[in-house]
Amino acid sequence: MTSQIEAAKAYCNSLVQYSRRKTIEVKIGDVAMGGDNPIRIQSMTTIDTMDTAGSIEQTIRMIEAGCEYVRITAPSIKEAQNLEEIKKGLKLRGYTVPLVADIHFTPNAAELAARLVEKVRVNPGNYADKKRFETIDYTEASYQAELDRIRAKFIPLIKICKEYGTAMRIGTNHGSLSDRIMSRFGDSPLGMVESALEFLRICEDEQYYNIVLSMKSSNPQVMVQAYRLLVQKLDEENFKPYPLHLGVTEAGDGEDGRIKSSVGIGTLLEDGLGDTIRVSLTEEPEAEVPVAYELAKRYDKRKNHAVIPAVDHYPITPFEYNRRKTSEVLNVGGGHHVPRVIADFSAKNKITAACLFALGYHYSVPLDKWNINDVACDYIFMGDQTIDFEIPGTLGLIFNHQTWLTQKTKERSYPLLDAQQYSKGVEASSTLNFIPVSLADALNDVLIQKLKRDKTAVLIVETNNEHGMAEQRRLFVELMNKECATPVIIKRSYKNISAEQLQLYAATDMGGLLVDGLGDGIFLSTENCASDKIVNETAFTILQATRTRISKTEYISCPSCGRTLFDLQETTAKIRLRTSHLKGLKIGIMGCIVNGPGEMADADYGYVGSGPGKIILYKGKEVVRRNVPAAKAVDELIDLIRENGDWVEADETTKN
Ligand code: SF4
Repeated sequence: MTSQIEAAKAYCNSLVQYSRRKTIEVKIGDVAMGGDNPIRIQSMTTIDTMDTAGSIEQTIRMIEAGCEYVRITAPSIKEAQNLEEIKKGLKLRGYTVPLVADIHFTPNAAELAARLVEKVRVNPGNYADKKRFETIDYTEASYQAELDRIRAKFIPLIKICKEYGTAMRIGTNHGSLSDRIMSRFGDSPLGMVESALEFLRICEDEQYYNIVLSMKSSNPQVMVQAYRLLVQKLDEENFKPYPLHLGVTEAGDGEDGRIKSSVGIGTLLEDGLGDTIRVSLTEEPEAEVPVAYELAKRYDKRKNHAVIPAVDHYPITPFEYNRRKTSEVLNVGGGHHVPRVIADFSAKNKITAACLFALGYHYSVPLDKWNINDVACDYIFMGDQTIDFEIPGTLGLIFNHQTWLTQKTKERSYPLLDAQQYSKGVEASSTLNFIPVSLADALNDVLIQKLKRDKTAVLIVETNNEHGMAEQRRLFVELMNKECATPVIIKRSYKNISAEQLQLYAATDMGGLLVDGLGDGIFLSTENCASDKIVNETAFTILQATRTRISKTEYISCPSCGRTLFDLQETTAKIRLRTSHLKGLKIGIMGCIVNGPGEMADADYGYVGSGPGKIILYKGKEVVRRNVPAAKAVDELIDLIRENGDWVEADETTKN
């Protein structure tokens, strides 16, 4: 690959025309994946695999919610064996959904499960390795010896899969890469890809191709980069185009989990990648299914979207994060300002001080001052509305140009000039002017030349194209190729959709740009979707999920499975209640010791089930308290955070 456009094209069919990547069809029982099949939806049971009746009931609930494959953990031989009973029980009730055995560490369980169910999932990070968190200096010969050892352990499973027609997912997790991969490639998207390719090469040598691949991470940026790189490497090394299973691990619950999942999964779907989706939420598995459908269904008719001009030179790096270089205009852009959030109050009847509560500004009457919380928007678009009270000192107001002209004081008030007004040179602010533009405007050289000379302009880009993310990305490409460093606010408008749809769609549409370093702010304009508070929080959660602006505590909680040793939903809620004000802290909440520590990736603190009623607490990757009784473990976690100087008291006014 020489030019950047070739590198980008190598991860998807087109950057401007929606087109699903063509993959080989993989047979998984009666429900094939890849090829021309629709994007398949799947989930995983959370109940103990040895609880046959419970597993059957939960599986049926998942099927009725629309699950097309059901994954069940098989941590040892006895659970693998019990899959047969679960399968029989389902068949007796008339259900033939393909079952997938989830395997970590136990080749013998995999070999048994592969004879009983339609698909096995192996984690290349731990199928033949135990993690010791060691850095090892490999020579070529010792590395090759490791690969030979893996080959010897893995080939028996391949042979069984071939004999029984069983499919396999080689599922890499960012948090559980082997010491071998970490030593050679580091904790990187390339390491994740190489981890899967080591296993894939063995499969292809054995002429076994019934394979699906995944590259999951709890960090959507890393996850997106890893899948893109995987596609590029598959093509480069002449592997078959295997179907991709998309997922963001340990995404958490509620709106955080939905938004984080949409940023990762949605970004890839936009570029036509992905043959099956699993949304991992710390909720009941059947709750994941409608979220996955909602993400997938947006592409049913996408290919008929309005034409977007082709790209000749692609200045964006799809495999690593680089923020687009922009000029600093007041507190926007410049590389160091966090992306700004603009709220839309232009359609309100009357704007009072109380309306600002929903946007993170709380006016205290006795103190006569504004309290500002961590999710306080930076600007409000007023349109032609006006206000008669003093606004908080950190807030700016944006008015339509005519209304702005009539404002008595211009302090912290800025005009919105359309491209025509801007080009004509009407009276404008000496510090900050917002200019809404479409892709067609950005293709106009006269406008671009004027923007390049102007140190007060910030663009607001919007789109009506059904393939909106690609159209907006095309606009960024134009600006970058013309060396125009004007900051850009990404605007999206939504009407008559539910609050959950808003979260999923906006996270996909805006997240897909932010993960590539594009955008100096976001502007969500909604009509009949959700309350002002939800819209504002959605904007901040999208920025948090893309790791471009951290405004709250991050919870990396596993979705739970048959290995889970405590009630994850209840515990996550308890921990959240006590710690949600610890902005920027990452807390891992993992159901089991087998996978938990590896999978909580870059968490600052970890709460991990180690046995029935017992918890291990981590500071980073280090175990600091063992055998803590579950009843006391949340208190001990708080003590630990205090001891390490990461605790702050919650401000009563900003508690949520
Ligand atoms: S970390 Fe959670 S989801 Fe992963 S294996 Fe353990 S209990 Fe299951």
